[in-house]
Amino acid sequence: MFHSADLPHRRSTVLAAILTAGLAIAPAVCQTAPPASAGTAPDLRVFDPSLVDRTVDPCENFYRYSCNGWFKRNPLPADQASYGRFTELFELNRLHLKQILEGAAQPSTARSANEQKIGDEYASCMDTDAVNKQGLTSLQPELERIAAIKSAAELPALIAHLHTIGVNAFFGMGSSQDFADSSQVISYYDAGGLGLPERDYYTRTDAKSVEQRQQYVTHVKNIFVLAHETEAQASKDADTVLALETRLAKASLTITEQRDPQNLNHPTDVASFGKELKHFSIPEYVAAVHGPSAGKMNEAQPKFFAEFDTLVADTPIEAVKVYLRWQLLHAYAGTSLPESFDHESWNFYSHILNGAEKQQERWKRCTSRVDRELGEALGQVYVAKYFPPSEKQRTLDMTLAIEQTMDKDIDSLDWMSADTKVKAKEKLHAVMNKIGYPDKWRDYSTVKIVRGDALGNQMRVHAFDEARDLAKIGKPVDKGEWQMTPPTVNAYYDPQMNNVNFPAGYLQPPFFSGKEDDAANYGDMGSTIGHELTHGFDDEGRQFDKDGNLANWWSKDDEAKFTEKSDCMVKQYDAIEAVPGVHLNGKLTLGENLADLGGLWLAWLAWLDKAQAAHVDMTAKMDGYTPEQRFWIAYAQQWCTQTRPEQLRTQAQSDPHAPDEYRTNTVLQDLPEFGKSFNCKKPSPMVIANPCRVW
Ligand SMILES: [Zn+2]
Repeated sequence: MFHSADLPHRRSTVLAAILTAGLAIAPAVCQTAPPASAGTAPDLRVFDPSLVDRTVDPCENFYRYSCNGWFKRNPLPADQASYGRFTELFELNRLHLKQILEGAAQPSTARSANEQKIGDEYASCMDTDAVNKQGLTSLQPELERIAAIKSAAELPALIAHLHTIGVNAFFGMGSSQDFADSSQVISYYDAGGLGLPERDYYTRTDAKSVEQRQQYVTHVKNIFVLAHETEAQASKDADTVLALETRLAKASLTITEQRDPQNLNHPTDVASFGKELKHFSIPEYVAAVHGPSAGKMNEAQPKFFAEFDTLVADTPIEAVKVYLRWQLLHAYAGTSLPESFDHESWNFYSHILNGAEKQQERWKRCTSRVDRELGEALGQVYVAKYFPPSEKQRTLDMTLAIEQTMDKDIDSLDWMSADTKVKAKEKLHAVMNKIGYPDKWRDYSTVKIVRGDALGNQMRVHAFDEARDLAKIGKPVDKGEWQMTPPTVNAYYDPQMNNVNFPAGYLQPPFFSGKEDDAANYGDMGSTIGHELTHGFDDEGRQFDKDGNLANWWSKDDEAKFTEKSDCMVKQYDAIEAVPGVHLNGKLTLGENLADLGGLWLAWLAWLDKAQAAHVDMTAKMDGYTPEQRFWIAYAQQWCTQTRPEQLRTQAQSDPHAPDEYRTNTVLQDLPEFGKSFNCKKPSPMVIANPCRVW
């Protein structure tokens, strides 16, 4: 995860809450091939009794009980920073995508326009000889463009151009829904410009963090050397980069602060913003980037832009050029540049920061690249092959059942007033369910993909994305748009859209199967559906109303009670020491923890209703387990994951999701119903005296 060369430098959906971390952020790091012989898919089951370790007491450690068999069968592969059931499916999907791409890459067949694009992009990425031979030649005009500038006055046009080709230069600009009126799309200016995963990497003072910063400087130096600088010059330039980025980092909000939308809500208009910055011409910037020169905008982080303005004024232009050269090389140091760059980038972001021991094979990274760049062209073929309409209908039915359960659950809350309940239910009823893939596919007809030009293709795809994004500003929002591609193994809730999104790539075994019963499917995919719905009512999502506007619909009293109840969970997760010396951040992870607990509770209630209606015999065992026990085991087995300590540290410090062990055990500790299903004695490690509960 956090291979930031793969990240867009801005987010058009600012606050979307995703289900898991690494995979969605950058599928470039955490995977291996499934143990499939040619043509046969591995047997992935939602509830798999063969994975249970009956030598472990379920009341002692339910995660180990449910997953030990999986751990034994799946040693952590060398090219992975972590490997779990999400990666297992991710790898299987990637194998399917590879077959599609290899077919599309055959130039002799009669290809559709989309097949030409995905096939030629894949072939270009796979052509390592051509990429190596090309060297830095294709990037040379861009390096020269940076070298040519003489003063800060030329920066607006240069930075605009770099943004167009996907370089994370200083800040991000794009489109976003208006916090006050979610039906409208406005300009959005946000902090950016960092090479480390997030701002606290620049400010932490513990020994490990200090060491990581030194390793980062070495990495930047190595990239400069590869770009033909002398050792001495590269060393000096790397220090310049760290100093400059540290200034940007210190002026940026922490990731915890960014979870509160109020901290990001600073509406203004482009003309006023232009006057605010004294040393960087916004009119020149927007003219060059082809963005709107007027109209409403959000300046997400004013403190950052004040510092950026000062930095432009007081930093020698040669230092700024060093920084921009680094960001340019960094943005392309993946599959578009020679293997020496590719390997150096992997070494820092995947090996040093996350502990992976071996770089992934090229085909895996090229497949992920096409998914990232042309995801709806590739996804269209994927869906036709792997996601039949019947599966879509089953998921929709389950979603509707869980929404009905939430309606009843809101009625039953003893801490919320009747008035606020009415508003909460209005919001729930307005949630839009998006399942599988978009109704209207993205049109890539204007993207030119040239076989044999990996770097040029990357630039053109970025330019296409940028233009597509900026074209949305000033227009009504398109609620049908997706932030994830169809083959993605993940899901999300978007508070400004008030919708839940479940890509087809995720609605597959081992998370959902038409062949397994409700106990398994509700424990697993049902809990995820509940998770995404609960995000609409977590510490962040609850601040948005049914239309997705940032508008408070809570009474003061109810708000105080919500905060008091969720503080129980903040303390509970703060107390967890994930790696020696590093505790989880209860505030950063609160939204996800609320969603995990609320989601599982909703799935449980919905399943009980369904089982009762179907007269399921709750004492009848299957594979040695009661239906209730299979529900909980299916829940736990989705989180079976092996993680390297380096990645665990990164995750504990920076990820809004708790590590998978706690997404299992801590969540179940808060649900006494779990302990009853396994006849646990009180107290036991899995049955605690004062469980937390909000939703
Ligand atoms: Zn989530």
